[in-house]
Amino acid sequence: MPELPETATISHDVMALAGGRRVLRAGVFRRDVTNVEPEDFPKNLVGKRLEGTGRRGKIIVLDFGDVVGLIHLVISGRVLRLPEWTESDHTNTAVLEFEDGPVLSFAKLWLGYFHLYKPDEVDGHPLISRLGPEPFSEEFTVEYLRKTFGRKANIKGLLLDQSVFAGLGNIYVDEVLFAAKVHPTRKSNTLDEREVEAVHAASRDILARAIELRGTTFDSYHDAFGESGGYQNELKVFARTREPCPVCGTEITKIRVAGRGTHVCPNCQPTRV
Ligand SMILES: [Zn+2]
Repeated sequence: MPELPETATISHDVMALAGGRRVLRAGVFRRDVTNVEPEDFPKNLVGKRLEGTGRRGKIIVLDFGDVVGLIHLVISGRVLRLPEWTESDHTNTAVLEFEDGPVLSFAKLWLGYFHLYKPDEVDGHPLISRLGPEPFSEEFTVEYLRKTFGRKANIKGLLLDQSVFAGLGNIYVDEVLFAAKVHPTRKSNTLDEREVEAVHAASRDILARAIELRGTTFDSYHDAFGESGGYQNELKVFARTREPCPVCGTEITKIRVAGRGTHVCPNCQPTRV
């Protein structure tokens, strides 16, 4: 599932492939993939120049000047380069062809979307409006986390909540909590100052490293060049059930927390402190 590093990588790749180019053709397969009538999708995009790309949480932002594409890949969505124009279908759910340039397919968006918004309406998008601070923003401070953790929620559930801060998903939450030596079932208000600081630092360090390595390829994720990411080689606990903990050698166990498969070293991450 694309999380922050994968979304950042794809967004960067789309700019590298199509930045500054105009849209020649556009199509969308199903009404539920976008927020406009399917026939209005090309009307809104053809002739527009891709001026920039970015990311809000796990949403890819494509800036076409007076219209903005907001893309959520959700579970297994990908951005693919196609050799030539292809009508959108159940695989290539939304397709854009750029002048003198690539045909990009926003593929398998079954549970995701490619919405078109006016630039001044982006902040009101249902998913963007409730996003918490970006992990690399100035608002994301130790103080902010300490205040948020005062809610007495389950720490893993809280970190998965995009309104707390934007961009962490199941893979990176497990890695952050392992690095911070915090058990995922802990109540957030029981974390001491050192642990809050550790969660803050690990969130930034791990996400920065994963962006540098162009994401984690665990199942379906590939960048827009079709290449795998590199962070899967640095995962310490995620998907390492029954392997020895890289710190202490204890067997990594898999439990269920906040409805998600969760990987933990029972020695490094004690349930009580
Ligand atoms: Zn350990």
